[in-house]
Amino acid sequence: MPRLYIETFGCQMNEADSQYIADRAAASGYTIATRPEDANVLLLNTCTVRDNAERRAYGRMNHFKVLKDDDPSRRIVVMGCLAEQDRDRMQRIAPHVDAVFGTKELVELGDRLAAWEPDFAELDFAADGALLEPLGGTADAVSDAFSHLRAFVNVQRGCSYYCSFCIVPHVRGRFDHRPLDDILAEARSKVAAGARELMLVGQTVNAWKDPATGAGFGELCAAAAAIPNLERLSFISPHPKDFSEAVIARMASVPKLNPRLHLPLQSFADPVLRRMNRKYTAAQFREKVALARHYLPRWAITTDIIVGFPGETEDDFEATLAFVRENVFANAYTFMYSIRRGTPAARWEQVPEATVRARFGRLVDAQNAATRAYHDRKVGGIERGLIVGPSKKDASKLAIKALDNVTLIAPKPDDYDPERYAREPWLDVAIEAAHVWGCTGRIVARATRFAEAGVRVRPPLVDLLAAGTTAR
Ligand code: SF4
Repeated sequence: MPRLYIETFGCQMNEADSQYIADRAAASGYTIATRPEDANVLLLNTCTVRDNAERRAYGRMNHFKVLKDDDPSRRIVVMGCLAEQDRDRMQRIAPHVDAVFGTKELVELGDRLAAWEPDFAELDFAADGALLEPLGGTADAVSDAFSHLRAFVNVQRGCSYYCSFCIVPHVRGRFDHRPLDDILAEARSKVAAGARELMLVGQTVNAWKDPATGAGFGELCAAAAAIPNLERLSFISPHPKDFSEAVIARMASVPKLNPRLHLPLQSFADPVLRRMNRKYTAAQFREKVALARHYLPRWAITTDIIVGFPGETEDDFEATLAFVRENVFANAYTFMYSIRRGTPAARWEQVPEATVRARFGRLVDAQNAATRAYHDRKVGGIERGLIVGPSKKDASKLAIKALDNVTLIAPKPDDYDPERYAREPWLDVAIEAAHVWGCTGRIVARATRFAEAGVRVRPPLVDLLAAGTTAR
């Protein structure tokens, strides 16, 4: 049976595309390999949002070349934003790549995999442990025992907003909103396949409009939440401009929505926001936060911030820093500005690197304090979250995502069994300690359905022994 390995870099849009390709390949008779050396087709789903992601993708292509040298019948396929941007260049500098599929050619890629399938019937491959070094991509989205629990559904492709630092509109094109009926049909099929939580994915997801009726994002959330057996709903990545009061109020009426609002700030200085072409001012952003606090009082607000955008002055940066110090954000993805070929900001005078690094350090310190304070408030409580799988850093522990997207790590209970926990995936974690990255604790119960009371679980044997020692 042919085997496909998919490694995904970048955003949830790419993870959704990888899931789509995995589903198409499975329908054509492939199995999904968890290691590249076990596969006949190696698929790299690439990102170009930052220079680092681009370099890592080319590095990974070189690693795949070693596997192909070992067996020339292997196919290497590259898809995603870098494939779209670098189609010609890639064929020049990575000639071992067999095929390149741009962001609008997913269906064609699925067709090609189906056509390749018969060629692979007799093949077998030896393992090569040297190629297991992780380089930043991940195969998790499509290939582990729990990945079906949290499914992505694309609602829109492309973006028409043309932020001056962003490559997305250039490689993915302008908005192309998917019809509501198509979205709901895919969502239903993912729930039927075992998804407990759906994530609606779009580059500017809350700008979504049904092409036929003009229904907006609030209606989409309500319609998706009404799917029988769906337990939780989330979305990524919205734009502050498209969170009107009506949309936020509508979201507040959908209890299945996870209580996390991602509101990408980028900067809190108007001159920078103007040059970024972000379409809101600092004051308007503050109004969005106030609306969220009013209608969604218990939701966590998270954000993205870019430091060192061309022309950012010390005063501009201080404005962003002061806003972050108001503890607005439960978490933030912070970035040093990096030049993206083909975007307007790439041609502008850059802030010196040392200045950017120094500002970045100060911003990270400020946000880390806010994030840690947010996590501290969880200590002593119990959080229910959906299992992600074994912790990557310590296989004796499980990773769980709380509803507000905070990572929880806890020792595997004594009755841990992947199949059972995939059927009973809601875990109650007694939070014992807070960290910047998330929280640690003990799993005290598991539940089949989100809304059901949990069944108590036995703590790991090692914990019982420790408790016995303490009692003596
Ligand atoms: S809104 Fe801006 S940052 Fe987001 S995808 Fe569109 S152009 Fe890029």
